[in-house]
Amino acid sequence: GAGPGAPRVPRYVRVNTLKTRVDDVVDFFKRQGYSFLGKAGSMEELRTLSGKKFLLDLHLPELLVFPPQTDFHDNRLYMSGHIILQDKASCLPAFLLSPVASSHVIDACAAPGNKTSHLAAILKNKGQIFAFDLDAKRLATMNTMLMRAGVTSFKLAQQDFLTVDPQDPKYSKVTYILLDPSSIPSAKGTAPSAERLQALAGFQRKVLSHALSFPAVQRLAYSTCSVHREENEDVVQAVLQEQGSAFRLVNVFPSWPCRGLATFPGAECCLRASPTATLTQGFFVAVLERCRDQDAVPR
Ligand code: SAM
Repeated sequence: GAGPGAPRVPRYVRVNTLKTRVDDVVDFFKRQGYSFLGKAGSMEELRTLSGKKFLLDLHLPELLVFPPQTDFHDNRLYMSGHIILQDKASCLPAFLLSPVASSHVIDACAAPGNKTSHLAAILKNKGQIFAFDLDAKRLATMNTMLMRAGVTSFKLAQQDFLTVDPQDPKYSKVTYILLDPSSIPSAKGTAPSAERLQALAGFQRKVLSHALSFPAVQRLAYSTCSVHREENEDVVQAVLQEQGSAFRLVNVFPSWPCRGLATFPGAECCLRASPTATLTQGFFVAVLERCRDQDAVPR
């Protein structure tokens, strides 16, 4: 929560490389009276950032860091889609999925679309993104946002991802999936009921299994903004088990300071994020990859 003793999380600004470059955005903010301190060398530099100063993040490229409470919602670069106001933790899934140019990618629970636009930037608007969401209002916001960000390579559908047919030839070349389903928001201070947590975890397991059933999928990033192991490590463990040896956890970002809870062997391959440990919102990411040696696996 954001209580009085809670650490103040910096404001992160992702440079939209579909429209501009880091150097140009840095110059813009310098002209606005900010002083640029270069690339951060430590978390301490992020923690102590104050006044009209900014840094380049130490973990993620194309991410600028400003002091907490900085508000750029009226900024010209935000209005024109040159910068995206996105928490650092929420930049992890697309960065770690890291689809190669011209790939076909599914963003299964996509609205309002910050991760979709990040994927498009990584793909340089080449290839194809199939994005789904249930919520019409969030999809409308997403459309506006993607237009503003100059994203062209996407197909947006209002559809329950669980009803998207993996055997449809349209998706036969989908090799990457980003799955960021609804979860209990970590920012909410109150504890969720056991029923709510169970219902969400059930949905998350179902939707992760469904995603892994797309025939060509090679790599998947699963993320939530929840701190509850029921929605995170437990979901990943249950689905990996159900899949036998078809998929494995990838040990991503070894230098990231905060790992998955050690609830099963390999859980340390997952990443966690929190205001105290990583100066971000609470978050969880796991990257799964299809095992290359399928020969021994009876299917
Ligand atoms: N990835 C988004 C982003 O970065 O902007 C945030 C996604 S939010 C955590 C989860 C989304 O999943 C919500 O917009 C919700 O409407 C959508 N959702 C929930 N159930 C779904 C389903 N069965 N199929 C598709 N989308 C669903």
